[in-house]
Amino acid sequence: MISHKEARQLEQFIRKQEKLANHCSYAIGGNAEYFASPRTVAELVALLRYCNQQRLEYTIFGIGSNILFSDRPNVNTMYISLKELLQFEVKDHEWFVSAGIPMSMLALAGELIHSTDFQFTHLLPGSFGAGIYMNAKYYQGQIGDVISRVYYLDMAEPSLEIKCIPVEECKYGYKQSIFQNNPWIIVGADISVEGHPLLSKLEIESVLEKYMLMEDNKSNLMQFHAFFSGEMKRLTQPETPVFIQEIEEYRSQNKHFVNHSCGSYFKNNYDIGKSIGALVDQLQLKGTACGGAMISSHHGNMLINVNNATAENILQLQAIVSEAISKKYGFIPEPEVQIIK
Ligand SMILES: Cc1cc2nc3c(=O)[nH]c(=O)nc-3n(C[C@H](O)[C@H](O)[C@H](O)COP(=O)(O)OP(=O)(O)OC[C@H]3O[C@@H](n4cnc5c(N)ncnc54)[C@H](O)[C@@H]3O)c2cc1C
Repeated sequence: MISHKEARQLEQFIRKQEKLANHCSYAIGGNAEYFASPRTVAELVALLRYCNQQRLEYTIFGIGSNILFSDRPNVNTMYISLKELLQFEVKDHEWFVSAGIPMSMLALAGELIHSTDFQFTHLLPGSFGAGIYMNAKYYQGQIGDVISRVYYLDMAEPSLEIKCIPVEECKYGYKQSIFQNNPWIIVGADISVEGHPLLSKLEIESVLEKYMLMEDNKSNLMQFHAFFSGEMKRLTQPETPVFIQEIEEYRSQNKHFVNHSCGSYFKNNYDIGKSIGALVDQLQLKGTACGGAMISSHHGNMLINVNNATAENILQLQAIVSEAISKKYGFIPEPEVQIIK
């Protein structure tokens, strides 16, 4: 239980009628009756207790780069973004990284200690917490391979104490983790960087301070790209690593940061032997539009918001792709994007 005084304090940072379109990379979503972005785990816990006390449901998310919010959000729900939960603690050869830290920050930290292990996170949109939840990946790298233990709150337990699980028990697979099957909220994880030079606290804190200045623009893909591309160039020029350059090229060729999107919309089905993007291409669906939404003409698995699209427009496109793939290839593709009511 939280006291009357605590409840009044919390209400000061709960935003009313907040436009969810401003908190996701799709730039889609109606006004939330309740929205909050806690800066500490203590604030998060107090907020969750407040929800229980007021009989409000809650939805946890990060930067909103893998989420489709509803045009009419549920009035009885508190939308909680963890993108302000920003802590990067350097403990000798281990880092504690909190859930709201953008994954792309790991690539910068990696360059500062001359490690290639985190390069795959360069320009990978999204928060570390969601990366742990989704097992975010790029090329050969995935988040499950670079962490050693995860800290979380178990919402099934009223005490809401922080618990810890070693990575070996996180059941990682392709875009799979134990977190997707449990009512757990990830607050951060440890990363072992044994064998590398120590990370300079001053340097990582200075990058983090600049990032914090982005304030409410943290979910905007164009701002995200400008910030992390710029910081990476500043840290690595004139010898930007080849893999980092390839990532820059791949993501700009596929216009990742030009339109509002959530990246790949469907999970690939590896039994078929071809990516969903290739199947959509074969079906000649690229460029198909519904209202302000369109299947990208650069990448068949990207459903983009080109002109004030609604969630309904995106869902219509999803249905068109699903039906066409089901008819021709005999399976219904599973969305990777999380559809939030
Ligand atoms: C242009 C573009 C390119 C992309 N490329 C890639 C790519 O190469 N590889 C890849 O894997 N993904 C890619 N993505 C998808 C996205 O980057 C990842 O899914 C990322 O992990 C989402 O992070 P987020 O903070 O935005 O999550 P959100 O969209 O905010 O949330 C996603 C899900 O995670 C859950 N969640 C979030 N935080 C927590 C938490 N702390 N505890 C428990 N659950 C939580 C939410 O409930 C939700 O179900 C791309 C997206 C875009 C827009």
